[in-house]
Amino acid sequence: MGTLMRTMTIRTVIALLTSMIAVQAAAAEISAFRVWTDPEKTRAVLDLTERTEYRLFTLQNPDRIVIDIDNAGVAESLGFEPDHAGVITSVRHGEPEKNTLRVVFDLSAATKTKSFLLEPTAQYGHRLVIDLYPENGSSKAEPVKQVARSAENDRKVVVAIDAGHGGEDPGALGPNRTREKDVVLAISRELKKAIDAQPGMQAVMVRDGDYYIPHRDRYEKARKNRADLFVSIHADAFTKSSVTGSSVFVLSSGGASSEFARRMADSENSSDLIGGVTLGDKDEMLASVLLDLSQSATLEASNLVAGTVFNSMRSVGKTHKNTVEHANFMVLKSPDVPSILVETAFISNPSEEKRLRDPAWQKKIAGAIANGVQDYFYLSPPPGTWIAANRQPIRHRVVSGDTLGDIASRYQVTVYRLRSANDLQSDVIRVGSELVIPTI
Ligand SMILES: [Zn+2]
Repeated sequence: MGTLMRTMTIRTVIALLTSMIAVQAAAAEISAFRVWTDPEKTRAVLDLTERTEYRLFTLQNPDRIVIDIDNAGVAESLGFEPDHAGVITSVRHGEPEKNTLRVVFDLSAATKTKSFLLEPTAQYGHRLVIDLYPENGSSKAEPVKQVARSAENDRKVVVAIDAGHGGEDPGALGPNRTREKDVVLAISRELKKAIDAQPGMQAVMVRDGDYYIPHRDRYEKARKNRADLFVSIHADAFTKSSVTGSSVFVLSSGGASSEFARRMADSENSSDLIGGVTLGDKDEMLASVLLDLSQSATLEASNLVAGTVFNSMRSVGKTHKNTVEHANFMVLKSPDVPSILVETAFISNPSEEKRLRDPAWQKKIAGAIANGVQDYFYLSPPPGTWIAANRQPIRHRVVSGDTLGDIASRYQVTVYRLRSANDLQSDVIRVGSELVIPTI
């Protein structure tokens, strides 16, 4: 009996000790503070070492946000970069009562606030995210400027440029800590310059700052701007640092059909304008046929532009593979805007990482992508555009490894037409020679 009592007591003590240790261990620390501003909101992220409870409230005169976090401390000072802090003018913290950390954001305007906790992912631990939407709406401007379409027969083609990642999503990291989100934004800006410099072409940026946009919103933004083409810019990464080269991706047909099924199932989307046709007022069968036609035409156009961009990039540097690649990237799933994703180089390779940071190389690769884009529009101009009225035949410079069959399939012409347009007696082609590509 006495032995049992003693055993229980020891157990109780052990349980008590364990719970005390747990309370000690549960004390969270804010290890970092990050803030970004996009055209709609300011997003503040507190990195936490543990998941914790918090309470958030808004105060006026002056406008500020107060966040009380239980059992938390601050690792170091909250580094605050005011230049992209949007509506937040300063950040303070203190301890109003024992075991409560209070963080205060001073604001330049009244805001609507959304906050939530995020579980750890590969890149980050626990996070508390606070989104601040200014109430006066002054910064609610559409991120992408609406491009005016002229009624005349000379409108410019519109290219939506999507710099991958952004904000709390840094993308891949190079061995020297280069962040994909930064270099792809720099390349995208060069690409915009190169496209705007071509007659009959105009570019809009889907992301033009250090903030995150969800994938579907990216292509929807391109659709809202009535883009003729969507180009997403990325830098690749692989576990083996020796892997190098650029790649061009299009959506695989499996990915297109799953997105097709989702759109058909989603009543909100059925009222969408797909390829210039409203689906909502059609019966389901007809709507499904129209959407399917639009999706197939879009995929075919995507394959063509992937081919011309791939060819052009191959003429300035090494490609990772010998062909265009297919993948199920969400960002490529627009039902009616031809879309490609360009992996400009491998950020995981030290010498390509260095190139990705080099402004001269950024300009060179952007120029190659722009030339490929221009080739695509010259081969297949949208009706009513300046390019449709003024296009020139395009030329392909033969590089090592090219075969006549590969070239024909990339430009979607037959080998027969390619041979006759160039007076070729056989399928033999010389590296460095130029081939005229017959227009479709
Ligand atoms: Zn990426």
